[in-house]
Amino acid sequence: MSFLVISEDRELAFQILAKARELADVKGSEVVALVTDGAPQDYINQGADKALSVKGLGSYAVAPYRAVVLKASDEVAPEYILMGATKRGKELAPRIAAALGVGCMNECYSMEHEDGKLVVKKLTYGGSTIATEYSSSVPTVITISPRSFEKLEAAERVGEVIELEVEIPEPDVKVIEVREKPKSSSDVENADIIISAGRGFKAKEDLKILDELAEILGAAVGCTRPISADLGWMDFWVGISGKKVKPSLYITCGISGQIQHVAGIRDSKIIVSINNDESAGIHKVSDYSIVGDIYEVVPALVKALKERA
Ligand SMILES: Cc1cc2nc3c(=O)[nH]c(=O)nc-3n(C[C@H](O)[C@H](O)[C@H](O)COP(=O)(O)OP(=O)(O)OC[C@H]3O[C@@H](n4cnc5c(N)ncnc54)[C@H](O)[C@@H]3O)c2cc1C
Repeated sequence: MSFLVISEDRELAFQILAKARELADVKGSEVVALVTDGAPQDYINQGADKALSVKGLGSYAVAPYRAVVLKASDEVAPEYILMGATKRGKELAPRIAAALGVGCMNECYSMEHEDGKLVVKKLTYGGSTIATEYSSSVPTVITISPRSFEKLEAAERVGEVIELEVEIPEPDVKVIEVREKPKSSSDVENADIIISAGRGFKAKEDLKILDELAEILGAAVGCTRPISADLGWMDFWVGISGKKVKPSLYITCGISGQIQHVAGIRDSKIIVSINNDESAGIHKVSDYSIVGDIYEVVPALVKALKERA
């Protein structure tokens, strides 16, 4: 049961490598990383037996990446092609599966051996149900959601680095301009503490009360989809269709706890919620609940934390 691991997102590639390593060790099989960032030893240190290093790929475009992944698959003949479920990974994975005429399972968060099969789990129906799947095709393409697995502690490991010779086709799209993403959205994905705003907030200016709390706690600020997609007060949201997060502490402020939001925060270690409706669903998924008005509770928390400091 060999694995070929690919993601343009290094951290996600390392997370997938850790799980592939664990699964491969059970069967005594091999883990190969496809490396496009010129640092193959890092991937070996994170669990790969071999690193196929590709040079000259440049910035992401479907045609070159598709050609490289297909060539790597040809070389390695893996049983599983594991890709990051990033926007790019999800664009590429079905194209790879279609080119190979094999199965593709998307946005999986769990992968285990069961009765001789590799069984994956993923959320369906907006996060309200879990689908358990396996595919009998060889290879099978699987995309893995960010933060589904913990990466290994990097250790000096011995592995083989192979230069992958591949004719890289011209990109099928022309990049006219590259704009930096606002920093905040990546902050929330990596933050250890997150405070999130929901429709309990009446006006955009009111979100400022969260900034002070965020500064004291060293937290990033997130929100629900209506705050971002409907009201346009922030440029991203947390949840099944937004950013999935895994902080030590997630504080919800004026959030009802709809399944689509909860599906993106369920891996948080501790959830604290402030909502003035005692019957709001968010209280059921919270470790600590404050039934109260955010406009009173948040300033009171800030005051108390300042006094303690
Ligand atoms: C396909 C699909 C995908 C979706 N994906 C996502 C997603 O990824 N993320 C996401 O967040 N949503 C998503 N949604 C939307 C989701 O269904 C909910 O509509 C949304 O999460 C609700 O946001 P909310 O909790 O801010 O607002 P509401 O549901 O309106 O809740 C507001 C809460 O604030 C409380 N409140 C009001 N005033 C105060 C106050 N002064 N003090 C304290 N509490 C107060 C109320 O009691 C209420 O519980 C998706 C929906 C669909 C259909």
